[in-house]
Amino acid sequence: SAKSSGGGTYHFFTKTMNESAMARLVIENDLREALVKDEFELHYQPKVDLRTNQVCGLEALIRWKQPGRGYISPMQFIPVAEETGLISRIGEWVFREVCRQISEWEAQSLPPMPIAVNLSPRQLIEGHITETISRILAETATPAARIVLEVTETAMMQEIKKAATILDELRHLGLKIAVDDFGTGYSSLAYLKRLPINSIKIDRSFVRDVTIDTDDAAITRTIIAMGHNLGLKVVAEGVETQEQMNFLRECNCDEVQGFLIATPLPPEEIVQYIRRPSIDIPSEI
Ligand code: C2E
Ligand code: MG
Ligand code: MG
Ligand code: MG
Repeated sequence: SAKSSGGGTYHFFTKTMNESAMARLVIENDLREALVKDEFELHYQPKVDLRTNQVCGLEALIRWKQPGRGYISPMQFIPVAEETGLISRIGEWVFREVCRQISEWEAQSLPPMPIAVNLSPRQLIEGHITETISRILAETATPAARIVLEVTETAMMQEIKKAATILDELRHLGLKIAVDDFGTGYSSLAYLKRLPINSIKIDRSFVRDVTIDTDDAAITRTIIAMGHNLGLKVVAEGVETQEQMNFLRECNCDEVQGFLIATPLPPEEIVQYIRRPSIDIPSEI
């Protein structure tokens, strides 16, 4: 620290500011190298349809495996990638890798199912997301209908007109749009109605206490009813207990995702998971 190294050297910064600024610099530098050294991986988390109890889709979640340091959470490096602009290259890698995985799984005769890809705000608003995505889809001969883009409310609300235009373009390409972390942002129902979206994912902060907190139960119930009234599919994320799933089933939630079903898994384990003779999703109370 500044003090133990003699003091006064870093007098412009508090210890904490200095350390976090340093940490960011280190991450930024390492992220550039990670792209070159191919240190990113995608894990996939299954989503289950509450009516059929079948896996009905997967969400791709990026993992950074740094030699000697193990996995680094996207919560740590995605914000840095956003701030530095590296997100566009990382995002392009993610999209291309998902398309490659789709054709690999198709070659292995895995039942086709939609795969969700997360887009951060800067990816949606800046750059040429529509061109990039349509180019990669064409290059990899991937049907657009196989991809769901997950966008947060905050990303859409920052520049609502621009976001609406871009989402329209993406939907015309044939992709589906999901609103991620729903309930944590500022979206109004009027705006939501104007956006070309297919589904909403109830944030796991509501799901967590749904069986013990009557407010969270009411909010969740309302989001599901409202989503259905707008013609949207409603997904609950972060489902960890049987009680939470029972509640969601009672409220007619369409799909669930969470550790109760499965954690995010590397591609080989996804194949095993989907090929299991019976998927033991608990269906009754
Ligand atoms: P998200 O899109 O909301 O993803 C859900 C996160 O919740 C994942 O964390 C997942 O592992 C975790 N999760 C799933 N089920 C449960 C559960 O039952 N309980 C709990 N406590 N957590 C659960 P992860 O993989 O660490 O990703 C964190 C965030 O990083 C994602 O949130 C997303 O915003 C971002 N992210 C991940 N991959 C990408 C990517 O490829 N591109 C971009 N732009 N962002 C990504
Ligand atoms: Mg997501
Ligand atoms: Mg989410
Ligand atoms: Mg999130």
